[in-house]
Amino acid sequence: HEARGRVCFFDPGMDARAQARRQLERDMRRALMTAPEEFELHYQPVVEVATRRPTGFEALIRWRHPERGLVLPVEFIPLAEEMGLIVELGALALRRACAEAAGWVRPLRIAVNLSPAQFRSPRLIETVTAALSDNGLAPERLELEITEGVLLHDTEATMATLRRLKALGVRISMDDFGTGYSSLSYLRNFPFDKVKIDRAFVRDLETRSDDAAIVQAVTGLCERLAMTSTAEGVETEAQFRLLAGERCTEAQGYLFSRPIPASGIPALLARLALE
Ligand code: C2E
Ligand code: CA
Ligand code: CA
Ligand code: CA
Repeated sequence: HEARGRVCFFDPGMDARAQARRQLERDMRRALMTAPEEFELHYQPVVEVATRRPTGFEALIRWRHPERGLVLPVEFIPLAEEMGLIVELGALALRRACAEAAGWVRPLRIAVNLSPAQFRSPRLIETVTAALSDNGLAPERLELEITEGVLLHDTEATMATLRRLKALGVRISMDDFGTGYSSLSYLRNFPFDKVKIDRAFVRDLETRSDDAAIVQAVTGLCERLAMTSTAEGVETEAQFRLLAGERCTEAQGYLFSRPIPASGIPALLARLALE
């Protein structure tokens, strides 16, 4: 009966972390079903290295939790993946990003992260098509970011999905390049438009010549394969200069802006245009 259930829930063997996690799981189900507006997107600009002009924004999800305040994705994306809610949450982010970007005064690009489960979902093509057409967003403005993890299995199916996405006219970026199970053959076998060089290789660029060598190799490869190279996590002017020296195409990081709510975009664009 009821008391027994309670005893079970407050089992002293279950530590506070596990309880907090279960609470967060319940909250996430509730939010997705009854209060999807609690999830919001913040936007971080991506700039062209040669001109320092913004080319677009990456949409990064946050959860405005009624009691906890703003929760970052590291706390709830892995949970959503384990709970099988990531496909729904990802679709929500995709629709929202396309809707917001369609309203921007300047037709800049919008990058959206896709988790591996979302990429493998049979509804992916339908979801992307609807997000574009429902909002009247030109497909070439949408970039989908996938990590190396999605390329690990089912090469045939993965390739077919990538081709179908490309056929829609959207761009595909390889995110976090160099951190996962990187293989140069991915860059040869899959039709990527962009490679995002992970922050891990940018952070110590000023002091570590091995990182500089890696960045140089990746940007050179991108140039030869006609892909854009985007450095992530650029925080200092010195890093930016080194990246420019390595012929990196784009940069993204706190040097230009942290991710900000949609309402801050016009002021941010005005500031970046003046710099
Ligand atoms: P990511 O796609 O690699 O996103 C870049 C992360 O680096 C973001 O963290 C961003 O805020 C942070 N960042 C940007 N510039 C700098 C910098 O100069 N220095 C430092 N230290 N960090 C910087 P965030 O927003 O916490 O997102 C973390 C991860 O959560 C993302 O990594 C992405 O994998 C995932 N994520 C975010 N939004 C979504 C989403 O809508 N769907 C899915 N599936 N995953 C998402
Ligand atoms: Ca990303
Ligand atoms: Ca990344
Ligand atoms: Ca990352």
